[in-house]
Amino acid sequence: MKLFVANWKMHKTRAQARAFAHDLGRGIGGGIPGAELVLAPAFTALDAARDERGRWALACQNVAEEPEGAFTGEVSAAMAADAGCRYAIVGHSERRRLFGENGSILARKLARCREAGLTPIYCIGETEEERDAGLTAATLALQLAALGADDASRHLVIAYEPVWAIGAGRSAAPEDCAVARAQVAAVLPARAGLRILYGGSVTAENAAGLLEASEMDGFLIGGASLSAASFQAIARA
Ligand code: PEP
Repeated sequence: MKLFVANWKMHKTRAQARAFAHDLGRGIGGGIPGAELVLAPAFTALDAARDERGRWALACQNVAEEPEGAFTGEVSAAMAADAGCRYAIVGHSERRRLFGENGSILARKLARCREAGLTPIYCIGETEEERDAGLTAATLALQLAALGADDASRHLVIAYEPVWAIGAGRSAAPEDCAVARAQVAAVLPARAGLRILYGGSVTAENAAGLLEASEMDGFLIGGASLSAASFQAIARA
């Protein structure tokens, strides 16, 4: 099964999420053979994005690094699981860059996901500067070190999202994905339940070619996941 995750970021009200779910349900009928679909709405729209028929799962876009307590504005992994999430996106480059999330914070978030039974979708990826300086492999290795204490027997999704490709209209080449796969293999040997996704400017137009050439297990999709039509077109790739 290929995995397709829609990261809506800070988009969509509950009514818009409901309309998307309606359109997606109508479009995919009984489901898309060979494709597992996941929607990652804002916390407020989780209920509205849910599919009673279970044709797609839910993910949250973030979890708190603490399990519970006086942390105003935070949402715990256990709360996200209770709200119906199966997955949690952890370490998206926007969280790293805009909210200062570093390796030790992300290691705690990964641990909270495990305690709550959420499968992490752990994002890694180099910036353009790191790439130009020949630091891609080192950057990915450093980011993967946050998984050092993670239980290797549990399911894990890694999303390779080069920062220079996110929202840029310019996707990575198959060779970039090969570097990421090699780093994951070097740092996380022998994990049976591991899937590696690519993310960064995936569209309905480039999805089929990218999926075949990159040998990835699916995509994490931002902009092109905001429309049910383009999200399902990508998943049909
Ligand atoms: C993302 O931010 O996770 C992403 C992949 O965005 P986009 O598809 O818009 O590049």
